[in-house]
Amino acid sequence: MDFEDAARRLDALPIAPPRPDGVHEGEVWQVPVGRILLSQRSAPEPPWADTPEPDEPPQPLVCPECNTDREMYVTGAWDTPATVRCALCGHAWAPVTGRRAVLLTNLAISTAVREQGLPGNA
Ligand SMILES: [Zn+2]
Repeated sequence: MDFEDAARRLDALPIAPPRPDGVHEGEVWQVPVGRILLSQRSAPEPPWADTPEPDEPPQPLVCPECNTDREMYVTGAWDTPATVRCALCGHAWAPVTGRRAVLLTNLAISTAVREQGLPGNA
């Protein structure tokens, strides 16, 4: 699973992933994630809908300062809202809010630990 797949699943996650061993509360992480694809999910389907509306295709997150959609970093501590930073121009902002922003931090950190291990444990 690459990070784009992970970001696509943000809305579908029923609960946050468990905090990996070695990741401490309040410890700020900065995870290079490349592109971020955000889904623009509408309201949940009513249970009686037999032909669900197709989801809008996920849109790449674009830096509002320099318009790139690549080389993004997700910054934040576990269970805090994510800040995204553009590696090209340095602009930092919060593209999503609330629970999705916390899940974005959780996903970025847990994906980084799973794929690369803890910093310093290479
Ligand atoms: Zn930028």
